[in-house]
Amino acid sequence: MIKLTQLVLASHNAGKLKELQAMLGESVQVRSVGEFSSVEPEETGLSFIENAILKARNASRVSGLPALADDSGLAVDFLGGAPGIYSARYADGQGDAANNAKLLEVMREVPDAERGAQFVCCLALVRHADDPLPIICEGLWHGSILHQPQGANGFGYDPLFWVAERHCSSAELSPADKNQLSHRARAMALFKQRLGL
Ligand code: IMP
Repeated sequence: MIKLTQLVLASHNAGKLKELQAMLGESVQVRSVGEFSSVEPEETGLSFIENAILKARNASRVSGLPALADDSGLAVDFLGGAPGIYSARYADGQGDAANNAKLLEVMREVPDAERGAQFVCCLALVRHADDPLPIICEGLWHGSILHQPQGANGFGYDPLFWVAERHCSSAELSPADKNQLSHRARAMALFKQRLGL
């Protein structure tokens, strides 16, 4: 098992860093890759795993520290897993509202039984930039795509994601409830288990 005291997070997002630090506790100091480089690597992978590894390797290379990266998105069954790794830029970078509008339009005629989808979060930890054995933890959150947006919490595709076990969309869950159920929470729970944290 890896003993970590410090790691660099392959994200410039201060919110993610805070969230991760809180989940990992005091024993691991989490630093941002932004302390070491402002250049973000091109996400050239075809899968969440490839992109998470690519980002983790880059963060480790520029910092000289073990690095953790996450890659997440929405995979819709009827669309063969799209928008997938392109979730953030599904509507060509026009933002969340445009992404949701595009998804609703593409799914307009699709019956309820074929509207299954999952949020995916993949975490990759490398001990050094060329680590041949990254630790990979995936979290899936199964749901289905609504016919119209519901709820105002969260971000991204939350208003379109129906959470059957709670009878509401993920944008109608409180942040605390979402953090218990989400793809990110599941991946992080596995990650902590793997590291004995
Ligand atoms: P990121 O790379 O983790 O920032 O997420 C990529 C994209 O996937 C986001 O811009 C959202 O469109 C979508 N996404 C990932 N996680 C969530 C979530 O928890 N709720 C809604 N959308 C999400």
